[in-house]
Amino acid sequence: MTDTIADGLVVSLAYVLKVDGEEVDRAERDDPFEYLHGADNIVPGLETALTGKRVGDTFKISVPPADGYGEYDEEEIEELSRSELPGAEKLEPGTVVQLEDEDGYVYMATVARVTPSTIVLDFNPPLAGKTLDYDVEVLAIRPATDDEIAHGHVHGSDYDDEYDDYDDEDYDDYEDDEDEE
Ligand code: ZN
Repeated sequence: MTDTIADGLVVSLAYVLKVDGEEVDRAERDDPFEYLHGADNIVPGLETALTGKRVGDTFKISVPPADGYGEYDEEEIEELSRSELPGAEKLEPGTVVQLEDEDGYVYMATVARVTPSTIVLDFNPPLAGKTLDYDVEVLAIRPATDDEIAHGHVHGSDYDDEYDDYDDEDYDDYEDDEDEE
């Protein structure tokens, strides 16, 4: 039966996410957010709260940082010289940059400060250290396909092929990297 949320099921949600009273994200009922339950697609606090919920259920939950995007870590700040960063002249506080290390791992960072000679990058997730206030409605639940289980994410009808191919390729690369270690 797929009438209650459990691992291996694809769940459609409408939600509003507020942080410090400000809306930062939302999914509408006519364009819901879909995720694969039990695959770490969403923050742990929200996933736990959704387990056992049914279609039509609505609830509010306040997720502390530890069960959300983690505590804010002062160590995750790095100051790089401008010469180390391609395109450094275009960066300003708040710009999100992607960095790749020599092993091909990609990191996201937010520009915290710029100085005449350096760029200060913050590698914390943007919502690290924040309490996440969710207002959620469960819209639909369905079994995941074998492919979805294997990939650990949803292959919804909303995806266009190009995006899904890119996504899967990325994920496969990641898996390959892991296998080599
Ligand atoms: Zn996939």
